[in-house]
Amino acid sequence: MSTTTALWDDLLAGDELAHLASEPAREARTAPVPDSLEPAVRDALARRGIDELYAHQAESYAAARGGGNVIVTTGTASGKTLAFNLPVLDALAADRHARALYLYPTKALAQDQARSLGALGLAPVRAAIYDGDTPTERRRQIRGWANLVLTNPDMLHIGVLPRHDLWGDFLHNLRFVVVDEAHVYRGVFGSHVANVLRRLRRLARIYGAEPQFLLASATIANAGELAQALTGEEATVVEDDAAPRAERTIALWNPPLLDAELGLRASALGEASRLLAGLVDRGLRTICFAKSRKSAELIHRFAADRLDAATAARLAPYRAGYTPQQRREIERRLVEGELLGVTSTDALELGIDIGDLDCAISVGFPGTVASLRQQWGRAGRRGHGLAILIASEDALDQYFMREPPTLLERRVEAAILDHANPRVLDGHVAAAAFEAPIDEADAATLGPEALERAAHVPELRHTARGWVWAGKDAPAARVPLRSTSPDSFLVVDASTGDVLGLAEQERAYSTVHEGAVYLHLGRQYLVRELDLQARRAVVEPFDGNWYTQAKKETETSIEEAVRVERRLGLELSFGRVSVTEQVVAYQKKAVADGSTLDTVPLDLPPTTFDTEAVWFVPRPHQLEGLEAMPLLLSSLHAAEHSLIALLPLWAMCDRWDIGGLSTNLHLDTGAPTVFVYDGHAGGVGIAERGFDRFEGWVADTVRLLEGCPCEKGCPSCVQSPKCGNLNEFLDKGGALTLLTRMSNSG
Ligand SMILES: [Zn+2]
Ligand SMILES: [Zn+2]
Repeated sequence: MSTTTALWDDLLAGDELAHLASEPAREARTAPVPDSLEPAVRDALARRGIDELYAHQAESYAAARGGGNVIVTTGTASGKTLAFNLPVLDALAADRHARALYLYPTKALAQDQARSLGALGLAPVRAAIYDGDTPTERRRQIRGWANLVLTNPDMLHIGVLPRHDLWGDFLHNLRFVVVDEAHVYRGVFGSHVANVLRRLRRLARIYGAEPQFLLASATIANAGELAQALTGEEATVVEDDAAPRAERTIALWNPPLLDAELGLRASALGEASRLLAGLVDRGLRTICFAKSRKSAELIHRFAADRLDAATAARLAPYRAGYTPQQRREIERRLVEGELLGVTSTDALELGIDIGDLDCAISVGFPGTVASLRQQWGRAGRRGHGLAILIASEDALDQYFMREPPTLLERRVEAAILDHANPRVLDGHVAAAAFEAPIDEADAATLGPEALERAAHVPELRHTARGWVWAGKDAPAARVPLRSTSPDSFLVVDASTGDVLGLAEQERAYSTVHEGAVYLHLGRQYLVRELDLQARRAVVEPFDGNWYTQAKKETETSIEEAVRVERRLGLELSFGRVSVTEQVVAYQKKAVADGSTLDTVPLDLPPTTFDTEAVWFVPRPHQLEGLEAMPLLLSSLHAAEHSLIALLPLWAMCDRWDIGGLSTNLHLDTGAPTVFVYDGHAGGVGIAERGFDRFEGWVADTVRLLEGCPCEKGCPSCVQSPKCGNLNEFLDKGGALTLLTRMSNSG
């Protein structure tokens, strides 16, 4: 508990406070600037007032000097950037031929990094951004002049690797590849980026270079494993954070329960505005993160309503899409204390620095502990800080309110990806063959799976030189990095003509059907038309107060059980399944209370995709007393939903990445069966992680169901916002009985 009294103490009094914790202040542990550092770099540090390093910066410098790959996974604002910059700047200063490549997941982050590199004023460093916005006439100049190129995975994939002949000199001299924000590369995107990095390693080797990889990640449970999965090589893990830290108070805040039977709670947005207004009124600089722009705007408006006009004028919303100048202007106003409160969508949480704040409020769990920690990392850089999580009604949020150690102390959530998923890999095998013939020696960089898949990729021909590309155009352009299906739907904003994103074929019908409300970077859009022929969804900005939920019929068939084990008294399987879904209708639901406004039928064809699943068949004694229909189905269905809600505790993913099916009689097993499957074609490792951690996963789910105060099931336990059956046939008691019996058989 906090030993000091703070300005916010009275504000945090009340039943809404589910948990209060304190992280003590910590002194810096420092190390001298290494003697081996190039004088030019040492001088640049000195000019910025840096005459010693944090121990973890020195440690990563030493590990990189030793020639190995490194992943730094210390906390927010711990100086990770200097940790990977030092070895790079040192190498560039020592060798004018040396080259480095920096990868950022977004253009804005690359711009931030380019600016801070420029601010070092280090003459030997010639940094340039090379992305989709770089004018053609500049590109050639950059390739010849720059020794530090900042880009993104998409540009590397489509613009650089296929044209490696233009980059021969750069690749030949490539010493370092920096992968910042590495935890972002998980799931489908991560699986693709892992292949892009393997293609980069192979081409560098062809040009005679073996670059070292320097990665930086938010704190995650498996940093070493992530580095290995992303690059295909081992890396030294630097995780002992030596940066100083001010004391931080952490508050878990649960909006009051309005109706225990229905599990209905007061609005998280209202609570957020009350806390934001209270903190700002006390002169505390506060940032408030919400999931959507609409929520951020409502919090801003409600908070302003609670304050006098002069104080309300010191609140501002902060949006994605601001130019660097606009962002710097907001930052300046914050630093100078002109602004006190900022509301933002969590699209902005990534790395971007908007100054030192006192308090950070997260409205709803942002999906991963790493994201939450990044948001909280804003608070208390100057002195004692306050970080708050306001729970939504979502099951995982409510679980954290009742079981704070699972959020604050446990480190189980792991970033996972699977570069060898054939749905991902095949496109990169084609792209690699286009870049240079693939032979046995390439197994060392591309991985042995790539050679196995080569025989299955159409348009590859086996020749004396190896597998060569026999198609016409460059295949990389056909492989989007954020999807496992090459025939995804484009989502186009009719009001601007901009492409907002891609909807994977297997999910398009449930997420961008006509009439769907589609969320992108925190903004709402209404789908006007889904053109099946042109594979395009036309959307327009939407300001209504409803969201949509698709009703669909799902079937699974087991293709192959790859791992079968006796676990928790039953037969647990992991393997490949085929999932067929047909979206048949959708409901409009009120944002305010989730009530159904309308049900609209849809006429869409069924879609089928192959993926990975974990499934189990409960034993008869585990189902005793639950055998009657529909209780049996309702118990299995509720168990499936609550399991899906908690899988993100064990595998870093979103519940929208996971699908499920429960049935009282499955054709393949001949028995009642529950399936939890990876929602992306081919699977990216989420289901397998569930298989590996089944006991812990089920134990968490039992605690979720036991602890939820509702009587018969609610949105905080067994109901799911993405249920294809619109949350019909759910029995909380039956699910608890079954899962408890399973857990007790362990
Ligand atoms: Zn409940
Ligand atoms: Zn369901």
